[in-house]
Amino acid sequence: MKNVLQELTRIVQGAALVEPPHAQVEFIVSSISQAIGIDVCSLYRIESNGDLLLVASYGLGNQGEVVVPAGKGLVGAVVKDRHPVNVANVSNQAAFYPVEASNEQRLKSFCGVPMVKHGEVIGVLVVQSTKARRLSKDKEAFLATLALQLALLLPAIADNPDLPSNRPIKGVRGAVGAGIGQARFMTTAGLANVVDAPSVDIAADIARWHELLNQVKAEIAAEQAHLSKELAEQVSSIFDAYQMLLADPALSQHVEAEIKAGHWLPSALKISIHFFADIFRNMEDPYLKARYEDILHLGEKLLQAWRGGTKQNDLVDQNEPIVLIGTQVSISDIAQIPVSQLAGIVCFEGGGLSHTAVVANALGIPAVMGVGALKGVSNGDTLIVDGNEAQVIISPSALLLNEYQKSIARELKLNDELQTLKDKPAETRDGQRVRLLANTGLLSDITPGLKSGAEGIGLYRTELTFMARDSFPSEDEQVQVYRQVFEAYPGKPIYMRTLDIGGDKQLAYYPIQNEENPALGWRGLRFCIDNIQLLMTQVRAMIRASVGSESLHILLPMVSATSQIDTFHALLNDACQQLRTEGYEFARPKIGIMVEVPAVISQLPFWQHKLDFVSVGSNDLSQYLLAIDRNNVRVAGLFDHLHPAILHELQRAVSRAMNCKLPLSVCGEMASDPASVVLLLAMGVRTLSMSAARLPRIKRVIRSLEITQAKQLLDEAMQLDDAKAIRQLVLGRMAAAGIE
Ligand code: PEP
Ligand code: MG
Repeated sequence: MKNVLQELTRIVQGAALVEPPHAQVEFIVSSISQAIGIDVCSLYRIESNGDLLLVASYGLGNQGEVVVPAGKGLVGAVVKDRHPVNVANVSNQAAFYPVEASNEQRLKSFCGVPMVKHGEVIGVLVVQSTKARRLSKDKEAFLATLALQLALLLPAIADNPDLPSNRPIKGVRGAVGAGIGQARFMTTAGLANVVDAPSVDIAADIARWHELLNQVKAEIAAEQAHLSKELAEQVSSIFDAYQMLLADPALSQHVEAEIKAGHWLPSALKISIHFFADIFRNMEDPYLKARYEDILHLGEKLLQAWRGGTKQNDLVDQNEPIVLIGTQVSISDIAQIPVSQLAGIVCFEGGGLSHTAVVANALGIPAVMGVGALKGVSNGDTLIVDGNEAQVIISPSALLLNEYQKSIARELKLNDELQTLKDKPAETRDGQRVRLLANTGLLSDITPGLKSGAEGIGLYRTELTFMARDSFPSEDEQVQVYRQVFEAYPGKPIYMRTLDIGGDKQLAYYPIQNEENPALGWRGLRFCIDNIQLLMTQVRAMIRASVGSESLHILLPMVSATSQIDTFHALLNDACQQLRTEGYEFARPKIGIMVEVPAVISQLPFWQHKLDFVSVGSNDLSQYLLAIDRNNVRVAGLFDHLHPAILHELQRAVSRAMNCKLPLSVCGEMASDPASVVLLLAMGVRTLSMSAARLPRIKRVIRSLEITQAKQLLDEAMQLDDAKAIRQLVLGRMAAAGIE
């Protein structure tokens, strides 16, 4: 073989493009036998009973279905040993198990390699030759490498009749919650398929083009108005990006030039939209990529307007719950459907921070992103969108559907019941009062906190305000946004965190790139101190917004060094002085840090006089203690904040904070996990901050608990060496005590 890497790439990338699945596996086996120069290449899939079914073969000439019973033959040995089997002559092998229909009696050599996914063997890739010669080491390595990559590419390995029912398809979480509805593909107007034709009336086409621009501008404004009933201005302002693109003279002039060059309007539109989309697509940064999607959406919308009518009209009339599904469901698509009818959103591409995910979260619609091209789904198929587990289930069995229906109904009922707790205190049965605050960051997310009885905002993630925009917000713009938070929670504590970008949180208009370890890089306060002007603007805006209240607590993310706290104090002094000189009257805000970098716990005694409070960011604290990327699905199974080492460090943090007389709260996901809450209370934590949706449930747990019980449970949990065992212990004990 000449160029191994080239061959590998050719086969893997080629296979990714072939559809349907049976053609894909045919492509794979024929390409491999060609690349290796060998008589036969076969692919076996493991069935649920352990049997190996031949799903594709090149050169075997089998007569009918070939099934190797579980554990039999050399293929069975590959599965059992999870190791390649490479032999010159199968007839010398005791394990050889010829299957009659396989027509392999004439074949001598055998090399089989396992295909493994998530630690499980899912199939075997085999090459065989009529010559009694062992496959060379190079070729064996080539085959093993291919098997590794193909196992990820072929989740189902060809058409498995057991599928697709009940097989969850994993993606990334766009928005939490679960929903069931009928699939509705967001089909496009078909810009890509427009055929070229000459313009019969250039002047008329140009005039029509300007009409279309105006029509689509008006449509988008109407969609924006429709959505803003449910959404605060901040999120719906994403529509402004569409309007800006439409207003760009470069687009308008390009289309005109193409019409003048002789193309009819649809094809002038296609040429221009693809021209601009390609420019953006080929630039690597996420902001420009996002604009590429927007341009394509607009192109489709303009073509639809030219065709006449709105493509989703038929959807709006239906009463069935709908799951919108598409490569990238646009926010225009979402706006076409009444929110009450939307059961979920599924995007083939895109991540948890995309505009679509931001909007889905704000509307409370379960969403799963980045699931890859969903094969075998048609309009009208039933889909379960499980945003909690970041998975989609296509055509679920009646049993599974029933389970989900029950759980959704339970959820709704529980929410109603929990509403009755709104004005009751979060107090344990033995009289310990706990303060429950809300985490937020979107204006549209403020009122749910109030409705669920939050006693303030424990974590205001300001980066969300920065993310849902096209450029850094000005001081006045920030004041306007932050003021609404103070107005919504008069006299209640507000913990506003300074901009925490970097790592997994990127600003589209200021991407931080070229970092080998972004989670350990230019993040949070590190970034802001290097861009001190942004921090100054933000701190001034926070103080101005807080005028008239004394509730501003400024929370600093990703702190690890004394110098960072000192720099911030100096900046704050400066900001206060500037604002007082400008005539503002206000109380100096309280200053605290996030306990996210584990090193901070040891530093607390040094910093006790520099800080007013600390707040544990258990998400990042866990990520750094366990060295597990919190967003990496490959290692997600290892991420559990009930890991004994995390509990140990938390206990150390709580007792250090107490000794230093530093008020401590917990604002990471642990605060909304009932089992963790029990242990946190036992450690002495009395302030928890969580998403509004989780708050009533946590209040219920607190109200049914006694601290003495919790302390005993903590003592027992600290004797265990495994997160799963700890969770089991706590949940088991809670269930026995009648606590959810
Ligand atoms: C955390 O790290 O626990 C936290 C609350 O901050 P974020 O999730 O925004 O990083
Ligand atoms: Mg964090």
